[in-house]
Amino acid sequence: MGAGPAGLAAGIYAVRSGLKTLILEGKMAGGKVADAPIIENYPGLIRTSGMDLAQKLVAHCKSVRVPIREFEAVVKLDLKDEKKTVKTNKAEYETRAVIIATGAHYRALNVPGEKEFLGRGVSYCGICDGPLFKGKRVLVVGGGNSAVITALYLGDLASEVKVAHRRDAFRAEETLVKGLLGKKNIQVLWNSEVKEIKGERLVNKVILLDNKTEQIQELPVDGVFVQVGEDPNSQLAKEAGVGVDKDGYIIVDSLQQTSITRVYAAGDVTNHPIKQVGTAVGQGITAALSAYAFVRRPYYHKQ
Ligand code: NAP
Repeated sequence: MGAGPAGLAAGIYAVRSGLKTLILEGKMAGGKVADAPIIENYPGLIRTSGMDLAQKLVAHCKSVRVPIREFEAVVKLDLKDEKKTVKTNKAEYETRAVIIATGAHYRALNVPGEKEFLGRGVSYCGICDGPLFKGKRVLVVGGGNSAVITALYLGDLASEVKVAHRRDAFRAEETLVKGLLGKKNIQVLWNSEVKEIKGERLVNKVILLDNKTEQIQELPVDGVFVQVGEDPNSQLAKEAGVGVDKDGYIIVDSLQQTSITRVYAAGDVTNHPIKQVGTAVGQGITAALSAYAFVRRPYYHKQ
């Protein structure tokens, strides 16, 4: 389930192991990585775009003939029995093993104006909507890798980029932070929380709270890019009885096994603390080879 880096890597390894394999994807194949403007830390590819990497993974799947059913969303899982049933909006499948690689979705700020102005100044994806803000003033909210990468990308398009972070230090990679602090048209607003997004037809300002001085200010902006983390796409798995942690991430062991036999999970939907394309790919590979071992029980499999 899921055609992001984890699911696609699992597909390649599963089919090459000889398992009859199908990848189901509710949207387009490629996953959220396709939204990343630049990737500079996927080993072997010095600098590429998320879209390019996603396309290469999809092309690899096609070359080994893994069927990918795009726009076929899973709607229900029945995982308890020997035969697992996966129901989609189009069909019902019976399978001996399921790999859940459904990823995560962008977390919302949950402030007034955010929902109302979605698509009219509020965005969760720099690469998708950044070009609409050429020469304009934008605000990026967040302090992790995604916020810093988005600000750097927008810095080449917008006239002025401000980054509002609720703390006084980023949690992003040092290389990225150095790049950001060196950009003339990017300014960081530390200890700043967005309280409201306002506008008329389109966004024209945000209300910011300085959580150190308690001062409120109005910041005129044309766009707000929310980059405050992610939440896992684990609802269906949870409903089917798969164990999740307090934040909803699927709990996996070192073989990517979940709490249910022959149900595996890989990538951003899991409770693995590192969320990188490289680790997602590695987890997908482990999940596929674990599934292979459990389905076929070859001589090397130890329980
Ligand atoms: P993240 O690392 O979880 O960071 C989220 C940021 O948003 C944090 O700075 C957090 O503040 C802030 N935040 C959370 N909720 C907020 C709220 N309600 N209001 C204001 N600020 C809020 O998320 P991410 O940057 O989206 O990255 C997700 C994962 O993907 C991470 O593991 C990241 O390393 C990985 N990733 C890696 C790369 C890369 O290596 N190139 C690129 C993108 C993402 P606090 O710091 O105060 O908690």
